Amino acid sequence: MSKQISAIRGMNDLYALPSQAFSTILSQAEQVLAQYGYQQVRLPIVEKTELFSRSIGEVTDIVEKEMYTFADRNGDSLSLRPEGTAGCVRAMIENGLLHNQVQKVYYSGPMFRHERPQKGRYRQFHQLGVEVFGLNGPDIDIELILLSARLWDALGIDNLELQINSLGSQQARADYREQLVSYLSQFSDQLDEDSQRRLQTNPLRILDSKNPAMAEIVAGAPKLIDALDVESKHHFEQVCAALDCLGIDYVVNPNLVRGLDYYNRTVFEWVTTELGAQGTVCAGGRYDGLVEQIGGKATPAVGFAMGIERLMALLIDQQKISETPSADIYIVLAGDSTLQPGLVMAEMLRDALPQYKVVMNSGGGSFKSQFKKADKSGAAYALILGEDEVTQQVVTIKSLRTEAEQQTVAWDQLITFFNQPSTDTK
Ligand code: ATP
Ligand code: MG
Repeated sequence: MSKQISAIRGMNDLYALPSQAFSTILSQAEQVLAQYGYQQVRLPIVEKTELFSRSIGEVTDIVEKEMYTFADRNGDSLSLRPEGTAGCVRAMIENGLLHNQVQKVYYSGPMFRHERPQKGRYRQFHQLGVEVFGLNGPDIDIELILLSARLWDALGIDNLELQINSLGSQQARADYREQLVSYLSQFSDQLDEDSQRRLQTNPLRILDSKNPAMAEIVAGAPKLIDALDVESKHHFEQVCAALDCLGIDYVVNPNLVRGLDYYNRTVFEWVTTELGAQGTVCAGGRYDGLVEQIGGKATPAVGFAMGIERLMALLIDQQKISETPSADIYIVLAGDSTLQPGLVMAEMLRDALPQYKVVMNSGGGSFKSQFKKADKSGAAYALILGEDEVTQQVVTIKSLRTEAEQQTVAWDQLITFFNQPSTDTK
């Protein structure tokens, strides 16, 4: 036998229940997004490396060490997208979609980051991202939070906590950065290696350190929320007031800074304690400077991305999803002359009953082995077609999940049989 070839570490195959959970999340999200009038965009997975270094920031974890970057055949530096916002902004600018118009869009698909694989952290993972361009008021920040809350409801996911914060304006952040650096410098010998490095490059990230040893130092730090500019403060108060009015619970987390450079004003995360260390299932915020930063006309923007794998884990752990059967009706064939009538019958059922999964036994086999497969498929009914049935133009119907007597039904009565309210195939 030849040597097996394995998948790349941190890049998973999805099948069975996780694959179903994935589809459920996407289809529910699409339904909710449609309710709010959002449009889907489909974007490339590969972009010029420069797009990410310029937007996400040179001194972020993603750009410093997590990108899958390679040279194209003509020497251009390309990267697999580590997130979707940068590409979405590029697409909006390049296609002229931001001229005097508001855009409310979403996308989904794989993202790539060379992180240490562990529960909830993979090298290929999937996000659904939502972005709004051209609106600067707090109302749209609120809409995004409401929309995400509605999705958790639709999925039946409980126990998510909404954390929010404001990062203020670029200027307020720059001023605060100085205060923070001078505070943290007093403890420079107690800072861990990451924080030492970040003190020079990206000190705000220290606030969101996952190292418990940093917690005490961080707790005493000046708070960005106390250093906000007047407009940002007002904006944030309106977000909080609307959430209060709409009955959305939240906590203000002054250490929520988000890992990417481009955020300002409102930032938020939906967090669970049920997935261990990787508890953030959805994260986002306002990024009013980004469009201009990557070559467009200044346009306010706000968005979020949710991690599909983490939501899948929640749906499965909270038993909000169970494996759906692969068949509702399973056709068992006995005898050589039954193949064609069987195919005709299956097609007729699929035409008339599109809501049912109609599976025809394939690969032959004894009566017994076909019934075993029918049972395993989860189907509610087996339809048995033997030579006698074909001659008489009937079919035998056997309930696989109840004690009901088997029945013989004429071909032209079959659809009527499955359409009766008492026939329960689910
Ligand atoms: P974290 O703090 O968990 O590393 P992040 O700030 O790097 O998250 P974002 O860039 O904001 O994450 O991505 C949005 C969401 O995508 C995260 O909240 C998470 O649910 C998901 N996500 C991010 N990185 C990964 C990964 N490597 N594997 C699986 N999901 C991920
Ligand atoms: Mg990360």
